[in-house]
Amino acid sequence: MKSKFRESYPLLMAQKDDNSFQRFGLEIGSGWLFLVYELFGFLEDIQRHSGQAVSISQIKEKFGSLRIYLNSSPEIAKDVDMLESLFESLSVRICDICSAPGRRQNDEGYWCTRCDKHRNTADGDMLRRAAQEAEKDFIDYQRQGVALSGYVHLKAVKSPLGEGYGTLTLTRFPDHLDSIPSGLMDQVSVEELADRPVSDLEGVVKELKEQKKRLFGTADASIEADIILGNPVEESAAQAVRALRDSERK
Ligand SMILES: [Zn+2]
Repeated sequence: MKSKFRESYPLLMAQKDDNSFQRFGLEIGSGWLFLVYELFGFLEDIQRHSGQAVSISQIKEKFGSLRIYLNSSPEIAKDVDMLESLFESLSVRICDICSAPGRRQNDEGYWCTRCDKHRNTADGDMLRRAAQEAEKDFIDYQRQGVALSGYVHLKAVKSPLGEGYGTLTLTRFPDHLDSIPSGLMDQVSVEELADRPVSDLEGVVKELKEQKKRLFGTADASIEADIILGNPVEESAAQAVRALRDSERK
């Protein structure tokens, strides 16, 4: 399986650092192999067009979502960060055992993303067989891009205007993203709503939710950002907020 990655993505897989990824490889279920394969395809594209290396620190499942830890130079960080959060968001809808549509939930004390068949089961043999099947399917898997219909990335921060004002940046994705030969930003549309009253921006986000858009994103640790994103915010956005706060506490 490692050789498939190496053959497909020679630039990306020429990793030099000694880290979790080198030591443990992909710490995920077989159902997500194709997802990581697509992610690595985009990273290979970035590396090819920019000439800048992307370093993979760790790829693992945590609390039912795909966590991707990458390092890159500032020139390509925007694309790389966006892909990290996009693929985490994609993962919580795909069974990590068999790749069928799934949802993230707490199964008797631990978070996982599973289809109906593979959640809440004590049948270890059945899970193992399904995982082997997914691994076998992956051998012939060809890169085909990812469907992103309705995906919108939100970045909410407090405005320099002060209390009660915020800036919301919306990044909309194409319905299908095949490859990014000249970078990710060439294929998305970005709209910045700068220095607006938070109630206006809260309304924008509410409307997107009503339209059943698949929202994910980041925020600073401000109350303004919390209000804009709404409470409770979409799962991945909430996670991003927590992660940002945790990193600021350190
Ligand atoms: Zn499944």
